[in-house]
Amino acid sequence: MRKDDFPILLNTGMIYLDNSATSQKPQQVIEAITHFYENSNANVHRGIYRLSQQATVLYEKAHEIVGTFIGASPDEIIFTSGTTDSLNLLARSLSWNLQNGDEIVLTEMEHHSNLVPWQQIAKERGAVLKFIPVTAEYYLDMKKARELITSKTKIVSVVHMSNVLGTINPVHEIAQLAHEVGAVCVVDAAQSVPHLPINVQELDCDFLAFSGHKMCGPTGIGVLYGKKELLRKLVPSTFGGGMIREVSFNDATWADVPAKFEAGTPNIAGAVGLAAAIEYLQAIGMKNIWQHTHSLTEYALTKLSAIEGVTIIGPPKGDNRGAVISFTMNGLHPHDVSELLDKENIAVRGGHHCTMPLMKKLGVQGTTRASLYLYTTKEDVDAFVNVIQNIVSVGSIDKDIVTTENLTEEQEIYKENILDHYKNPRNKKELAEAAVISKEVNPLCGDEITLYLDIEERKIVEAAFTGKGCVISQASASLFAEYVNGLTVEEVQELQQRNILDLLKIPISHTRLKCALLPLRALQKGMEVPVC
Ligand code: PMP
Repeated sequence: MRKDDFPILLNTGMIYLDNSATSQKPQQVIEAITHFYENSNANVHRGIYRLSQQATVLYEKAHEIVGTFIGASPDEIIFTSGTTDSLNLLARSLSWNLQNGDEIVLTEMEHHSNLVPWQQIAKERGAVLKFIPVTAEYYLDMKKARELITSKTKIVSVVHMSNVLGTINPVHEIAQLAHEVGAVCVVDAAQSVPHLPINVQELDCDFLAFSGHKMCGPTGIGVLYGKKELLRKLVPSTFGGGMIREVSFNDATWADVPAKFEAGTPNIAGAVGLAAAIEYLQAIGMKNIWQHTHSLTEYALTKLSAIEGVTIIGPPKGDNRGAVISFTMNGLHPHDVSELLDKENIAVRGGHHCTMPLMKKLGVQGTTRASLYLYTTKEDVDAFVNVIQNIVSVGSIDKDIVTTENLTEEQEIYKENILDHYKNPRNKKELAEAAVISKEVNPLCGDEITLYLDIEERKIVEAAFTGKGCVISQASASLFAEYVNGLTVEEVQELQQRNILDLLKIPISHTRLKCALLPLRALQKGMEVPVC
């Protein structure tokens, strides 16, 4: 479907399956933004000259287009920089209505963006967080939801479609439960708005947040929808130009909604780009997009779940799950699976997907996630599944190394150095009495290293490590522990990033550098306290 509209897919030839993180942009959106900068760029709501009026009309029109897209009126649409910004804005504004002991109900499958802002305001106002549990089948436990939402509840904030599990939650029913007790219902629709026809009247939620970049629009533009009567009552949380009615030296009053919540110069080109993205999606039809990604997801789930050693982390096939396919593979770290797929020009995401508490609850360090969109084809899914099948057939992360006869110099080093240390780690044990015991975690993927240094007369007499994670983090720790043995305290304090890279001997990508540097970070943290 429409791959030709996306220059990046043609230019790179890649199979892009990281759409939950961000989507690619069609030519129509790229042109709309360029056209705006080439013909209509000026600040909005200020200038009397025609160019400014032209920019203002386009910016206002974008509110209208977004409103129509989700069944809201234009003044219920606040432009933000994205879902995270929308939820922060809302949490801050709603916090003024909270009192000690009030309850905020979330779910166990929230993205950090719909968790951390509520944690912060709960701490400030003495409110209590409650979590609707996720069942063993990866749905929300609605029986528990009915028990948790009580007269103490003031805010219920739930993700519509999980960015990890793909689960589509019964938002309408949750909104009803919230309204029965006088609470407001907030929906994190970052994943659902790009994929499903959404109508806020039908959902009857009070607020809904989403991002432009996940729905073919540009980055840096997002939306907070709010019911007009509620937006009017809410206090703004960002202050400055554009959001005021009248200002004196000591006081100010606020403009009408949505301007009240759009302080400062807005992302005008972003709004124009988002409007173009919505027009693009509407021309295809949201029902068609849903049907396309839904049938491809069913196809991918069938093929993937048939592979031995692959476990799908999410609901089985069905209408209440979206085009997000998370899985684990026996004994393989998601980073390593992702890198193998990247070698075949297939982009997926591996890690905790900004849902650390959910990962902990599920008992996994992370998952590999393939997320599809309107330009994904059956051939893309086949190519992806084939690589996974190959990895399983070879039974090892070192597929290239095992199957290629003439290794390149880099592959040779990878095999001799990295894989060897990964498979046969040196000094992987606890040193309970060590002078330095220091743990570091990579927040991107949850990889962890604990470094132990036994020190006598300012010399490392034994170094060891424990931990879990990808090939790079574990090999790096093994090489590092071996290397620092026998060095003086002064020498290890001097160690830097380049020393780690010298030990690994192969180029390390920007993201994986964080894995590679874990033992060094652990050392630096551990050495902050004076030793011996
Ligand atoms: N919520 C969910 C469910 C998401 O998937 C994401 C993005 N991964 C966000 C919130 C945050 O979106 P953004 O980074 O665009 O603010």
